[in-house]
Amino acid sequence: MSSTFTQVDLTGRVGVVTGGATGIGRATAVLLAEHGAKMFVGDFDPVGATSEESARLGITELRCDVRVEADVKQLIDRAVSQSGGLDILVNNAGIGMVKQITEVSEEEWDACLDTNLKGAFLATKHAIPHMRQRGGGSIVNTASNAGILPRAHDPVYSTSKGALVAFTKSIALCHSIDRIRVNAVCPGPVGDTRMMNADLDRAADREAAIKQFIAASPIARVSERMISPREVAEAILYLVSDASIMVTGTCIAIDGGKSLGVPPQAK
Ligand code: NAD
Repeated sequence: MSSTFTQVDLTGRVGVVTGGATGIGRATAVLLAEHGAKMFVGDFDPVGATSEESARLGITELRCDVRVEADVKQLIDRAVSQSGGLDILVNNAGIGMVKQITEVSEEEWDACLDTNLKGAFLATKHAIPHMRQRGGGSIVNTASNAGILPRAHDPVYSTSKGALVAFTKSIALCHSIDRIRVNAVCPGPVGDTRMMNADLDRAADREAAIKQFIAASPIARVSERMISPREVAEAILYLVSDASIMVTGTCIAIDGGKSLGVPPQAK
């Protein structure tokens, strides 16, 4: 499938995507590989069914738990040793946490913050020295519309994504001197992902839940559909490409306006 950014050429670039077995991470690894990048995917739970496509696009899939520093270091080191350096890091691995704060256990808090925030810290920490050696690089964090505008149904998730937005801006400032750009995408509602399917499976009425997700995003609502993983990957492609060479510390909402506020009444 062709991309909107057909002129983007990532030949010679090496990239790592965490949480790349499914959903947004998978779409990102595929899109960047289609534009010439040599991609490495680290996931807690690699999906075997994707390996034929991975072989065709030269994507290397590795098992990696982003909560574990040794796993993350191994993923980054493998990309560097196999391909000679690192230019792109997409911190995408994430889990949801739909619970009120009084019901959240300490283990659940740790699982959410460790996956959504500490995982990005660990990969960024180990990627930066290699990007410095290349004279620069691009890091993209998959945050969420919840990182811009918190929601009442998932306070711990919203906290993790809000902190990831703060991390993005802070690291962008710190490493501007290394020509390392750090940006975030803030998606949602994105359909056809494992996280979204899990949310829908929990709903008493699946169809009603889909309608509710769509209704919360003004452009999704007029389009009568959720956002696709590929549409988020297109924004990540822009952020890792030279088209965004002066862009750092930004958070691009790929949410059809969901984080802008209360949408207008339906016509
Ligand atoms: P997804 O569940 O399909 O993808 C998440 C991936 O992360 C999975 O492949 C999973 O195995 C992996 N993962 C989970 N824990 C991990 C760990 N400890 N180590 C390594 N990998 C791990 O869902 P998705 O919607 O594609 O989510 C991708 C990112 O997008 C997440 O950070 C999520 O918070 C964010 N996001 C999604 C939506 C949405 O509507 N789907 C909205 C906003 C933000």
